[in-house]
Amino acid sequence: MKIKQLKTNHLINPVGYDFSRLSVSYVVSEAKGKYQKEARVIAALDEAFTRIIYDSGVRTDIAGTGFSLPFDPEPMTRYYWKVIVTDDAGDTCESPVQFFETARSITGSGKAWKAKWITPALEKEVQAAVYCDIEIVKPVEKVRAYMVGLGVYEFCIDGEKQGEECLLPGFCDYDSWIPYQTFCPVLTEGKHRLEIVLGDGWYKGWYGLRQNYENYGDRLAALAEIHIWYSDGSEEVIGTDESWHSRRSRVVYSGIYPGEVYDASLDTSESFGVEELDLGYDRLNPRLNPPILIHERLRPVEVIISSKGETILDMGQNMVGWISFRCKAPAGTKIFLQTGEILQDGCFYNENLRTAKSEFTYISDGQERWVRQHFTFYGFRFVKVEGWDGIPAPEDFEGLVIHSDMEELGDIETSDPLVNQLVKNTRWGMKGNFLDVPTDCPQRDERYGWTGDAQIFSGTASFLMDTDAFYTKYGKDLFAEQKKLNGSVPDVVPVAHCPGDASTAWADAATIIPWNVYLHFGDKDILRRQYDSMKGWVDYMYREDEKDGGKRLWLTGTHYADWLALDGNVKGGVYGATDPNYIASAYYFYSTRIVAKTAAILGKEEDASFYGRLTDEIRSAFEKEYFTPAGNLCVDTMTGYVVALFMDLAPDYARDRVRKGLLRKLKKNGYHLNTGFVGTPYLCRALSENGMNEYAYDLLLEKGFPGWLYEVLMGATTIWERWNSVLPDGKISGTEMNSLNHYSYGSIVEWMFRDMCGINPLEDGAGFRHFRLSPAPSYQIRHAKAVLRSASGRIESAWKIEGKKLSFRFEVPFNTTAEIVLPDADAGKLDALIRAADPAGKSMEGTRGQKEMEENRGAAVVTGEISGLRQEGSSVVLTAGPGVYAFTYEPTVPCRKTYSLDSSWEELKANPKTLEILEKEYYPLIGNHIPFESELYTLEEMTWGPFTCISQEQRERLDVLLRQVE
Ligand code: BGC
Repeated sequence: MKIKQLKTNHLINPVGYDFSRLSVSYVVSEAKGKYQKEARVIAALDEAFTRIIYDSGVRTDIAGTGFSLPFDPEPMTRYYWKVIVTDDAGDTCESPVQFFETARSITGSGKAWKAKWITPALEKEVQAAVYCDIEIVKPVEKVRAYMVGLGVYEFCIDGEKQGEECLLPGFCDYDSWIPYQTFCPVLTEGKHRLEIVLGDGWYKGWYGLRQNYENYGDRLAALAEIHIWYSDGSEEVIGTDESWHSRRSRVVYSGIYPGEVYDASLDTSESFGVEELDLGYDRLNPRLNPPILIHERLRPVEVIISSKGETILDMGQNMVGWISFRCKAPAGTKIFLQTGEILQDGCFYNENLRTAKSEFTYISDGQERWVRQHFTFYGFRFVKVEGWDGIPAPEDFEGLVIHSDMEELGDIETSDPLVNQLVKNTRWGMKGNFLDVPTDCPQRDERYGWTGDAQIFSGTASFLMDTDAFYTKYGKDLFAEQKKLNGSVPDVVPVAHCPGDASTAWADAATIIPWNVYLHFGDKDILRRQYDSMKGWVDYMYREDEKDGGKRLWLTGTHYADWLALDGNVKGGVYGATDPNYIASAYYFYSTRIVAKTAAILGKEEDASFYGRLTDEIRSAFEKEYFTPAGNLCVDTMTGYVVALFMDLAPDYARDRVRKGLLRKLKKNGYHLNTGFVGTPYLCRALSENGMNEYAYDLLLEKGFPGWLYEVLMGATTIWERWNSVLPDGKISGTEMNSLNHYSYGSIVEWMFRDMCGINPLEDGAGFRHFRLSPAPSYQIRHAKAVLRSASGRIESAWKIEGKKLSFRFEVPFNTTAEIVLPDADAGKLDALIRAADPAGKSMEGTRGQKEMEENRGAAVVTGEISGLRQEGSSVVLTAGPGVYAFTYEPTVPCRKTYSLDSSWEELKANPKTLEILEKEYYPLIGNHIPFESELYTLEEMTWGPFTCISQEQRERLDVLLRQVE
C-alpha cells in the first residue's frame, strides 16, 4: 500500500497560510485490500512524533478527501502529521510525514506587530527597494520572515531572491485584506542586507478598465518582521521601521499592462530614507493562494525575420509568463521586446492587446547574464526583439511559463489528433489564466477575474488540476467584494474599479464554483467557508424577486446572459438572442438549489427547507412562465433549450418537445452551434445526456466556423475568445475584444470527461468516493481514454471501437464504488460475459490499458466486486467496487454511422452508397423534384414535401435500405 497526494488544506506542506480551517487529505493506492478498514491521523510538534498534540485514534470514519484536524493551532508553529491506514485485507501503511507551519497569526493580523508599514522616501512614481543592514553575531537556530510588499515584491537577502515564488503577494481585494507571507530563510553569522524590492503591480500600477481611477494605494509599501531564534535560546525581532533605508530599483518602471523597464546600468547605491505609512494592521491576514511559480521553460521554435525586417521569436505556444534571455550586449545597449499572440501577414502584431503595451526594455551594463522580468507578466506566442546584435540564437531565449501551482490531475487522449490538440489548448488556456485569479485573458488591458468566465470553466478546471486551494482564495475575495454590495456579486473579482454587478451567470460564480470544488474534491471546508457568500447571492436574487412582486422568477436587472452567442441581432455583436430574464430565472433556480443542497450537507436544516421550498417555487413559476401546457418552450433558441435540459427545468411532459426543439434549432443552423457563454458549456452535455449523443460529437468534430476544431486547424494553441477570432484567411477578426487565450469555450473538455469518457462525480459521494462511469462513445472517434488522479485515487475510463465490437476499460480506485453504465448492452449477455471472466483477473495484474483490452477481446476482465447488474433502457448498469473492469461486446445498436430516413439529405448525398439508393429509389418517386431549402431537411421531411407523393410503404423501404449501408 502507498499513501500519496498528501495535502493540508489542499496544499503540499504549506507554510504561513490561513489555518483557521484545517483539513488534511490523502489518497491510498496499490493496496492489497479494496476498502479502508480504519485510519488514524496523528499530529505532533516534532518530526519524530514525540510531542503528539492530536491523535484521532483508530477510526473507521476518516475520509481521505478531507479530515478536519480538530485542534486550534498556535501561531508561528510547525506541525507534523501522518496518517496510518489499514485496509480490509489487513494491509497497513504509514504515510510519509507531512507538515504545515502557521504564520504569525492563525487568521487576521495577530498580536501587535513590532514592524511598521514603510514606504521609500522617494517620489511616488519611483520604483524602489527598502532595506536594512544587519549583523549576526552568534549562531542562529531558525529564522522566519513574515512580510508583505505592496504592490508586488521580491524579498532578497544579500541580493539573492528568497524562494521560488513570483509576483508576491499576488492579487486580491487589497481594500478588504492584505495577505502576508512567511519565508524560512537561512542567516549565518556575519553581515547581511535584508531587502524588499517593490513594484507597482495590481495594487498601485496601471491595471483596470477604467482610466484615471483611484488605485488601491498610491505608495509602495512594505511591512516585515524578521524573527531570529539563536542557538543560545534568545530571540531577536527585526521589523520594518524608520531606521530602514531605501534605494532606487533597477526595475525603473513596471506595471501589469505596460510591462517593465530594467536598467542594469543604473547606479542604485545612493541611500534614501523611508517614511512610515498608516495602512493599519486590520487587513493583514495569512495568505491563502497557492504559490505562483515558473512551471516550464520553452525555447523559441523559430526565429523569424519578417518582410518588414522585424526579428520575431516564435515560442510555438501561446503562453503566459516572462521572457528570459542571455544578454551579452555591451554596456548601454538597449534591448526592447514586445509581445503578441499572432502574426499578421507574417509580421508582428499586437493591436488586440488594445492599450496594454506588454513591453520589456533592458539596458545592459555590459555584464553577461540571464535577464528576466519581475513585476509584470505577458500573454504571448511571439516576441519582437529589437536592439539585438545579429540574429538571436534560440538557445539565448526562454519563455518562462508562470501560473499558480496546482497539481495536474486529468488527461484525455483520443484517436483524433485534433481533439487531442483541443484538450492541450484548453490546458494551456488554464495555465495562462490561473495566475492567482481566474482571469478572462492574460494579455490585453483586462486580465480581470471575470466571475462568469471563472464559473463557466470551473468544472473543466477541476478535472484538469487540483483547484481547491486556488478557488478557496478566490472565494475569499468574492465574499469580501460581496459584503460591500449587500450580497450582490460583482462582474469582476477582485473588482479593481470595474463597475457592474448582479449579472446572471456571472454572479452565480458565488454558488457554482464552491459547489464544483466540493463535488470534485469532497472536502466540505469550501462549502463551510463560502456558505454565507452562496446564501448571500441567492438572498440577493430573492430580494430582487420580492421587490418585483414575488413572482419566483428574476425578471429585472441587466445581464450579459448568453454573452458572445452568434444568434444576436448584431453581426459580430456580444449579446445573444436568448431572453436574459429567462436565463436569470434559470440561474435563480440553479443557485437556489445548490444552496438548498449545501445547507443540507452542512446540517443547516432550517435553511435547507427554506431554500428547498424556494427551489420548488421557482421551478413551478418557471414552468408556468415559459412552457405552454402542451410542453412547448417559449424561448426558442439553442441556449434556451440547452438551459432547460441541463438545469432540469423542463417538466416531464415537456422534455421530449424540448429535446426536439433543440434538434430543430441545430438543424435550422446547419448543425452548427450558435450558443454563447451560457449555452456553450452545457450544449454537448445536454445533447449526450438526453439521447442525442451523436450530435454532440458532430459539434465537437466540426471543422468549420463555428466549431472547436476550426481554431485548432487554424493553428490555435490556446482557446479563443470568439468562434471566429481569426478568419480563414488568417486575419484577426477585430481588435475591439478579441483574445486568443480565453478559456471559457474550453469548457467542452468537461463534456469530454463527463460524457465522452463518462467520468462523473456524484453528490452522494463527493470527491469521487462514489461516482459514475458512463462513457458515450461514437463511431466518429475510434478510441478515447480519460485518466483522472481524483481526490479518491486514479480513475480510468477508456473505450475502443474495433470492427463491430466495443471495448471498455475502467479503473475504480481503492475505497470507492462506481456505477458503471455500459451503453447499448444486454444485461443477460453481459452477465454471462462477467461470469466467464477470469475471476481474480490474475492475467491482468501489472498490465494496463489498451493492451489488456486487446488480449481479452470478446471477454471481460473483472478484478473487483460487482454487486449489482441491471438493464436500464438500452444500457446495463453495474455497481462496482475497487478494481479493474474490462468488457468487450457487440453493442445492440451498431457502432457505426447509421443512415436512415432521419439522415439529412446532405449527408445522404455525400456517401456514394446512399446516393445510389437516392438515385435508384427516391428521385424517381419524386420525379426529380427537390424541395426548397432541402439542404436542411432530413429525408423523412423531404418525403413529406409539397409535390411528393410517397406512400408509407415506400418510405419504410427507403429506411430499411439506408440502414443496411455500412
Ligand atoms: C471579458 C469577458 C467577460 C465579458 C463580460 C469581456 O471583456 O473578456 O470574458 O466575461 O467582458 O462583459
